[in-house]
Amino acid sequence: VIELGMPEWSTVTTCAYCGVGCSFKAEMKGEQVVRMVPYKEGKANRGHSCVKGRFAYGYATHKDRILNPMIREKITDPWREVTWEEALAHVAKEFRRIQYQYGRGAIGGITSSRCTNEETYLVQKLVRQGFGNNNVDTCARVCHSPTGYGLKTTFGTSAGTQDFDSVEHADVVMLIGANPTDAHPVFASRMKKRLREGAKLIVIDPRRIDLVRTPHVEAAYHLPLRPGTNVAVLTALAHVIVSEGLVDEAFVRERCEWDAFEDWAEFVLQPENSPEAVEKVSGVPAETIRAAARLYATGGNAAIYYGLGVTEHSQGSTAVMAIANLAMATGNIGRPGVGVNPLRGQNNVQGSCDMGSFPHELPGYRHISDEATRAIYEKIWGVKLDEEPGLRINNMLDAAVEGSFKGIYIQGEDILQSDPNTRHVAEGLAAMECVVVHDLFLNETANYAHVFLPGSTFLEKDGTFINAERRINRVRKVMEPKSRYADWEATQELARALGLNWNYKHPSEIMDEIAATTPTFAGVSYDLLEREGSVQWPCNEKAPLGTPVMHVDGFVRGKGKFVRTAYVATDEKTGPRFPLLLTTGRILTQYNVGAQTRRTDNVVWHAEDRLEIHPFDAENRGIRDGDWVKLASRAGETTLRAKVTNRVAPGVVYTTFHHPDTQANVVTTEYADWATSCPEYKVTAVQVSPSNGP
Ligand code: SF4
Repeated sequence: VIELGMPEWSTVTTCAYCGVGCSFKAEMKGEQVVRMVPYKEGKANRGHSCVKGRFAYGYATHKDRILNPMIREKITDPWREVTWEEALAHVAKEFRRIQYQYGRGAIGGITSSRCTNEETYLVQKLVRQGFGNNNVDTCARVCHSPTGYGLKTTFGTSAGTQDFDSVEHADVVMLIGANPTDAHPVFASRMKKRLREGAKLIVIDPRRIDLVRTPHVEAAYHLPLRPGTNVAVLTALAHVIVSEGLVDEAFVRERCEWDAFEDWAEFVLQPENSPEAVEKVSGVPAETIRAAARLYATGGNAAIYYGLGVTEHSQGSTAVMAIANLAMATGNIGRPGVGVNPLRGQNNVQGSCDMGSFPHELPGYRHISDEATRAIYEKIWGVKLDEEPGLRINNMLDAAVEGSFKGIYIQGEDILQSDPNTRHVAEGLAAMECVVVHDLFLNETANYAHVFLPGSTFLEKDGTFINAERRINRVRKVMEPKSRYADWEATQELARALGLNWNYKHPSEIMDEIAATTPTFAGVSYDLLEREGSVQWPCNEKAPLGTPVMHVDGFVRGKGKFVRTAYVATDEKTGPRFPLLLTTGRILTQYNVGAQTRRTDNVVWHAEDRLEIHPFDAENRGIRDGDWVKLASRAGETTLRAKVTNRVAPGVVYTTFHHPDTQANVVTTEYADWATSCPEYKVTAVQVSPSNGP
């Protein structure tokens, strides 16, 4: 029972969970949120919400919040509470000592897709201006970095092409490696509405997700491919489109590089890309591949929506390019109802990428090697920037194990629970001399920290998030930071402790700097956001009120580029020891590593991660529904309960990673996307056996 009380005032802000970016009115009584009411004017949600967002405030006042900075010499020592001044001076001293002793590149920073754009911008600025290197990364590394690579290569920029409203004009929806009813519920409702109105649905997913068949919605085709074979199936769809003359040649001639198209068309027609050949690799019947390709190419406006089931593979970037190829070949780009739409997981994945938090890119996806772009920042930051890309998260951990990387500032990210191959992450963190965790709670990563800086929730700060449709939404402070500083202020104080002259008085001034230095954000200001509610980038002189649909008259790169997408099987193989394939995902009521949702007790949350296993595999192992099982891979093992279900096919098992007790990433491996190092969470060879419990 929740004692609501009568609200005294309210303000509009943005949900801090998923990439839908719903607007809410936070109704307040004094400094206490009493209710989150979905905001009718919110352009992403139009008055709707899901169960997570509706209660996304309980964790802000949870007793586990750490409200004072803490220090310890060794990670085996007890924590000692200190003042902010002492903590920041200690970090500055340690980081400078490490750089003096081991070199400028021995430290780095990680920012989070949970942080605001302004906070992320400051973290990458701190690293580049204050640390003097490019060792900055974001948790988008482990989710949508292949989207960045794939869409930039083919279209010229890393962004979903459509707004959410666009789904209302789709005649065909192709959903690949995404489960929106669990992970993007409010957008899923809009998609379901369109499907109920008659749009056709193609689902490409190893699991029989809800949308395959749910009341009043049934997919025309479900392609339950073997995990790890996305590229083969997508290229086979292209094979059908080219071989059956379904290419929109006028579009391709006008809008794309014709030579690259011809080369690609020759490639997709090769026999190994035929549906019959791909059936052997993927397990999807050739006739289903043919039928799905025909529907996509001839069914009217066809829109592709995809998720981490595409990106988190050793060929994640290749799969994104294969998707872009399909859209270009059929002319399904540049108008409402079509396009290529990555469904971003966390609230600000899009923004964290936009803000230059990758080691090779400055804000706006401009490569660090570009002299003209560097000159913009060198002028206003007053430093010479390193032109070489810095270290990615996995490179930082590898370098730490090897002994050349010694200090890290981690804002809002629990890499020990969320990143793959937990044992390796722990080894890397343990080898460092100064690990600084800036977060709300003592998370799993904090077990390896020397300094803990208390973080602030989205309710305690101003800023902006960017959702999956590039919409810049305002986050508004409804309560004072519980631990003195909002995160952007804490980063500013750290910069000052390192000797930098930062004087931002409000996040709007940070956005002004972003707008002044980033062409796609040139027209963005807090004044504009107050007037318009929200806008979608690019927002500049050419598009003063933003851009709902991209690539309308031409691609950002000029002409669209087709890319050959040869299927290469992952090195992760099943065998007698590990005969099953594990794939991972999310459930509706939990968010990511669960740090917030596990501390929000307004509704009954799923209390544990379970392992979905097909009845055939369960029976073979003597496993019944609810039994404890051991899940083991060559990386490690964990224990959890089984859920016997035919949602997964024989040979495939599935679990979530929301609970630290399970630590599902203990079993995931070091394999990663060839282009971006995005981990291959979706394919791990495992064995499942009965267990007596943890
Ligand atoms: Fe909206 Fe996502 Fe928040 Fe749910 S979790 S309310 S769908 S932004």
